[in-house]
Amino acid sequence: MQFPQALETVLQALARMRDGSAHRPCASRSALDALDQAAPARTSENLRKPKINIEVAKDPKKTEKLAAVQTRVSVCTKCPNLASSRTQTVFGVGNPDAEIMFIGEAPGADEDAQGEPFVGRAGQLLTKIIKAMGFARAQVYIANILKCRPDVPAGSFGNRAPTPREMQTCRPYLMEQIEIIKPKVIVALGAAAVEGLLGTRAPMRELRGRWEFFNGTPLMITYHPAYLLRNQSASEKRKVWEDMMQVLERLDKPISEKQRNYFL
Ligand code: SF4
Repeated sequence: MQFPQALETVLQALARMRDGSAHRPCASRSALDALDQAAPARTSENLRKPKINIEVAKDPKKTEKLAAVQTRVSVCTKCPNLASSRTQTVFGVGNPDAEIMFIGEAPGADEDAQGEPFVGRAGQLLTKIIKAMGFARAQVYIANILKCRPDVPAGSFGNRAPTPREMQTCRPYLMEQIEIIKPKVIVALGAAAVEGLLGTRAPMRELRGRWEFFNGTPLMITYHPAYLLRNQSASEKRKVWEDMMQVLERLDKPISEKQRNYFL
C-alpha cells in the first residue's frame, strides 16, 4: 500500500472511532504534529469520512490511478477557504471505463454532505436523463469542475457559482480524471462546466447543442439539470433531450421510436 493510502486508512479509522465510539481517540502532540505534516489539509474539523468510492475498472492500473488522484484531492488545500469550509471533497462517481462522462460545475450542499456529485434534485433529474438514454447511472461517470463546495457566508442558504480562479485551480484534477477514464464523449452541463473545460464564456442558448472538442474528445454542451428545475418549459427540456440524442448517435447507439418521441 502506498503511503498516502495507508495514511488515508489510518485517518478513516480514527474518524470512525471519533464519530462512533464513546471513547474518543487520544494521541500525543508529537504524533499529531507528524500526521499534520504528512496531511496538512486535515484538521480536527475536517477529519471525517473521506469517501474513496472508485469502482473497479477492467484495467486494475486505471482503478489505482483514479484512487491515487482521489487521495490527493481528499487532502487538497489549494483553495484554503474551500478546504476549511467543506465537509469533504466530492471527487466523482461511476464507471472508470465509461463511454460518457457528465461534467457539472461544483458540489452543492447535498453533494458536500454525501460526498457524491449530483445527488440532490438536479442529480435526480440527471439520473432520469441517463436512464432515458438507456444507461444505468453506474455505467457512466459523473464529476464536477470543482471538487469542493464553493463556500457561502455563514447562515446563508443555497449555493454559489465557482469563481474562474477556483475553476482554474481545480481543473488539473479533472484533466487527470478524463485522461485516465478516456470517455468517448464528454457532456458539459451548464455554463460553468463549459468555461472550466473550454475557457469559453457565452450565453447557454448560444452554446448548447453544439459539438466541441476537449483534448480530442467530442464534447456536447447542454443545460445543467438545475436550469431545467428552474425553467420547467417543455421546449427547454426537449432541447436537452435532443442534445442527448446527438450523444447517442455519436456513440452509434440505436435510438428507439419511444426515445425519439421522449420529453423529459
Ligand atoms: S476546489 Fe479543488 S483545488 Fe480547490 S481545495 Fe478543493 S480540491 Fe483543492
